[in-house]
Amino acid sequence: MPITAEQMSKGYRPPTFATVEEERRHRQERLAAGFRLFSKFGFDEGVAGHITARDPGEPELFWVNPFAVHFGHISVSDLICVNAQGEVVEGHRPVNAAAFAIHSQVHAARPDVVAAAHSHSVYGRSWSTLGRTLDPLTQDVCAFYEDHSVFDDYTGVVVDTEEGKRIGAALGDNKAVILRNHGLLTVGHTVDAAVWWFITMERSCQAQLMAEAAGTPVLIDKDMAALTASQVGSHLAGWLNFQPLYERIVREQPDLLD
Ligand SMILES: [Zn+2]
Repeated sequence: MPITAEQMSKGYRPPTFATVEEERRHRQERLAAGFRLFSKFGFDEGVAGHITARDPGEPELFWVNPFAVHFGHISVSDLICVNAQGEVVEGHRPVNAAAFAIHSQVHAARPDVVAAAHSHSVYGRSWSTLGRTLDPLTQDVCAFYEDHSVFDDYTGVVVDTEEGKRIGAALGDNKAVILRNHGLLTVGHTVDAAVWWFITMERSCQAQLMAEAAGTPVLIDKDMAALTASQVGSHLAGWLNFQPLYERIVREQPDLLD
């Protein structure tokens, strides 16, 4: 019997909450940490990029980074809350039009999804120009085996919710979608998982680009890729992998919790 993600997690579990307020605060802390990590990994590109977290009390609302604030400067108190019409209902800064156009439709298409992450990270956007899904080349990328897709279109900066709907449809039931000529978008049942999937997918794009530049990589066979996906690609595995990164960034930059 293969070891399960549950066994591998050794008792680590996502927390449960007594109140909506506690859960909201938790999501906000994870979101602010996600932005600081995106900055640390160099995923910023001017004003591009957004991570969203659905509000636990009012699921049609989501929390997001304010427009034109560097990921590396974002604390919990900077986050803004946006409604289904794109209006900022909490916070005093504007929302990025693309963040609303894409994320509102992804959240609407996927009620199971708590968080979605997107940025113009260099390896993700380089890989996206090929219009291909990632191959099962390494243990880590098997998290995306038969669990990601390509949005095979590019029509300029996404400012229309109709385009966001098409991205949501391309995502389907997967944990990630590669937006051709644009970049990566990942989703999760926790903020932790959405951010982790983004980080590891970006590095998997880097790995495949390097491997193909060096030669002809050997693929993991289908059965082993599917087995590995069940081990490294679960919701629990996505959540778990984020925990050491969260501990590190809070220790380094405790003001993110302000
Ligand atoms: Zn973008």
